[in-house]
Amino acid sequence: SPHSEGVIASAPLSGAADVDAAVAAARAAFDSGVWPGTDPAARIEAVGRLAQSYGKRLGELGEVISAENGSPITFANLAQAGGGFAVLSAFLQLAPSFPWESQRPLMVGGEATVRHEPVGVVAAITAWNVPQMLIMAKLVPALLSGSTVVLKPAPETPLDALVLMECIEEAGFPAGVVNLVVGGREEGEQLVRDPRVDKVAFTGSTAAGQIIGGICGQQLKRCSLELGGKSAAIVLDDADLAATTQGLKFASLLNSGQACINQTRILASRANYDAVVEAVVESVRQMKVGDPSDPATEVGPMVAQRQQERVDGYIALGEQEGAKVAIGGRGRPSGLDRGWYVQPTVFAGATNEMRISREEIFGPVLSVIPYTDVDEAVQLANDSDFGLAGSVWTADVEAGNDIARRVRTGTFGINNYTADFFAPFGGFKNSGLGREYGPEGLSAYTEIKTIYPPPSPEAGSLFA
Ligand code: NAD
Repeated sequence: SPHSEGVIASAPLSGAADVDAAVAAARAAFDSGVWPGTDPAARIEAVGRLAQSYGKRLGELGEVISAENGSPITFANLAQAGGGFAVLSAFLQLAPSFPWESQRPLMVGGEATVRHEPVGVVAAITAWNVPQMLIMAKLVPALLSGSTVVLKPAPETPLDALVLMECIEEAGFPAGVVNLVVGGREEGEQLVRDPRVDKVAFTGSTAAGQIIGGICGQQLKRCSLELGGKSAAIVLDDADLAATTQGLKFASLLNSGQACINQTRILASRANYDAVVEAVVESVRQMKVGDPSDPATEVGPMVAQRQQERVDGYIALGEQEGAKVAIGGRGRPSGLDRGWYVQPTVFAGATNEMRISREEIFGPVLSVIPYTDVDEAVQLANDSDFGLAGSVWTADVEAGNDIARRVRTGTFGINNYTADFFAPFGGFKNSGLGREYGPEGLSAYTEIKTIYPPPSPEAGSLFA
């Protein structure tokens, strides 16, 4: 428990032999045709049964996730369990109209058949912060495509994955189609290296993504990488500051600061700088920090002691670099003597060059950075190794749209930031490779095959 530091449950740790057996089972289920040989309608029906069994467990899943990773319970119910279910539902709605097989007019006349065939055995390796959303973004499109799966959740959050496997059992998939191994980096790397795995779908740190991408490159294995971020929220001078700071609670401090999309660089004009700092500080001051099981809690503990120390270290670094703590600072919040808590912290006087503004902290720590004009705001937003998310806050939606087109990130919000599972999500630059969600997120689990038509009087030939 990140809150009590006590033991709340235990889970088995898979060894090398378990990982090997899981891959063998997924390979056999794929090669036998028992799952890839079914038609899309049958697979949609089976995933529909999963939605039914999963839907019955949402309350329990919210509690389990909150207990294992410290997510505030209101967020855990709504976005952790509810988010997993929403991803599942979105793919179920998209799958019937997905072009699994379609006809394509050819240059020389006649039509080819273009097929989206299953990619094969998928290793899905995920992070602990929003565990069910990350799993569902991989498992569901893989199943709908006819692929088979070995899932390895983060070692911090095995429990919700075990609940999911009970739902899988209840839904009744053929043996070997979905397999779970519980482990850490070593087990993950074993999966990535295994030549029987056709695709790796990964969400986690950029450092691990670089290693995984390298191994996949050597094997020309398909891979999608959802990695870190250091996104910017641009506050224009005409923004309604009350609405902006309310929106930034979600866009910048989601999940106690432990979310890849968090816009932890807040860009404010020099003219309006003090007012923005004050508004952000006031809004952070009002956020309730504490026991994640309390429905009023907005910021819970960090997932583990390691993460608490990391965040605390970055707060110390910010002070060394010359930024000024406007609220928060090092050490525990008062009254919380146990648990992996940190103080939500806002740095004023930060620059975009400081490490606190360049590196992903993955905790509730914000840098407010000044800009001179809109061009400089866009340049600062783009001056980052990452490119995952971002937002602009303004009374002028047209101006917001213009900025949205100039910022090099995979997703961007105007006066709002909310991911939607009908639309693609993913990163530019070091934030990743490939897209999840939407039809693009289904396509990512397919290989595309073209079948040329036989010779016919109406079709010519390019070469004869
Ligand atoms: P992590 O990279 O340490 O671990 C993620 C997963 O990968 C875990 O299951 C871990 O066991 C496994 N793993 C680690 N090293 C591996 C290796 N070399 N080979 C195979 N598997 C390996 O990341 P984390 O600390 O669990 O998660 C936080 C990170 O995830 C942050 O950087 C965050 O931004 C990122 N994240 C990104 C998204 C996104 O969609 N872009 C979403 C959530 C989290």
